[in-house]
Amino acid sequence: METKSSNPSLAPIEIPPDHLNIMGYVDESEVNGPGCRAVVWVQGCPRECPGCFNPESWSFEINQLISVDTLAENILKNPRNTGVTFSGGEPFWQAPALASLARKLKAAGLNVMSFTGFTLKQLQSESAPPGSQALLEQLDILIDGPFVESLAIHSPNSPVSSSNQRVRVLNPAFQDQITWASDQIEIHVLKDGSRIVTGYQGWREQA
Ligand code: SF4
Repeated sequence: METKSSNPSLAPIEIPPDHLNIMGYVDESEVNGPGCRAVVWVQGCPRECPGCFNPESWSFEINQLISVDTLAENILKNPRNTGVTFSGGEPFWQAPALASLARKLKAAGLNVMSFTGFTLKQLQSESAPPGSQALLEQLDILIDGPFVESLAIHSPNSPVSSSNQRVRVLNPAFQDQITWASDQIEIHVLKDGSRIVTGYQGWREQA
């Protein structure tokens, strides 16, 4: 199902139980889903899509290990976060830990959305990554399908980046909330002084 890469860093690795290997995390994003939300970019994606906005997220090597409990606490500490979005990298290669994080956040009243390079059909098949069904059960919204450069939508008003991708509203309560400001970018300045630029152009870390 996955594109086989000759680069060994692009093969999923085992990480400690109840931990996530993430590329980055921000609070209070308004360009990655409905309302104001935290965004978690996981580390690792084997697809090597030409034109990918986040090639830094491809390697599965450990970047930042964080426990599910710590990440849940961090997200819930900020009362402006009304939801969380999982992006990447490929969230479904870390599905068990993300499902656990999602359960904790949903119990606290947050909604949960995820991007994936898989199609929904692949995620519902027997060859899906472990834990895919458990993560799907927690999602309010799924945006599925890989980025295909030849099908790229060069419109800042589109919630998807290429026309093969689909917005799956898994919780009908969100049917009329696919309206986030995807034509905007945000610059988040982190405590260590580094900056994350996110939104229409995806994810960029700047020194
Ligand atoms: S699936 Fe997404 S993160 Fe992975 S290579 Fe493609 S565009 Fe990049």
